Amino acid sequence: MQRGLLVVISSPSGGGKTTVIQELRRKCPELKYSISATTRPPRKGEKNGRDYFFLTEAEFRNKIAAGEFIEWAEVHGYLYGTTRQYLEPLLQQGETIVLDIDVIGGLNIKKLYPQDSLLVFLKPPSVKELFTRLWKRGTEATTEIVKRFSRVPWEIAKAKEYDVVIVNKDLTKTVNKIIEVIQNYKKHGGR
Ligand code: 5GP
Repeated sequence: MQRGLLVVISSPSGGGKTTVIQELRRKCPELKYSISATTRPPRKGEKNGRDYFFLTEAEFRNKIAAGEFIEWAEVHGYLYGTTRQYLEPLLQQGETIVLDIDVIGGLNIKKLYPQDSLLVFLKPPSVKELFTRLWKRGTEATTEIVKRFSRVPWEIAKAKEYDVVIVNKDLTKTVNKIIEVIQNYKKHGGR
């Protein structure tokens, strides 16, 4: 059977990643999506088991202790992680799975699955635009925005360890580029 592929998509907060992933999944319904666990409270419209598995900090820490996470990281003061229970069956079935995870998680996935992962970093066209998007989104309080924004230079510096960096200017172009790199990876059995 064909081996599964983990397509990691990372970007700074406000980098348009959620929209890109939504459009990618619309165009390629065969792609699976890795639902992470988090201690962050749900945003308006988010559903448990669809967007995230929302856990208390105690529940999350118990899962860490029980070795249930393939990777986990603290991002903006909350815990986020990918569970074995969710990901491993999909990988074994040879699926192509999209992971919306931060750069720590992405680089850990690359270490764990060097042959079966493809790391895509979405770079904002400019830092100013990123700030405007984050501000306009209106989902975070000002203190949250400042917290998210302070991480951006470090995140962008980590992009050089990713397999592909795409400047996310145009939604259609970005999504098509991601589809192209996935297809190339599969065709050539590597990057
Ligand atoms: P948000 O709170 O905006 O949904 O996500 C915040 C950050 O956490 C984003 O960069 C997102 O990619 C990252 N994230 C979401 N799930 C996971 C996960 O399972 N593992 C890691 N390492 N990061 C995650």
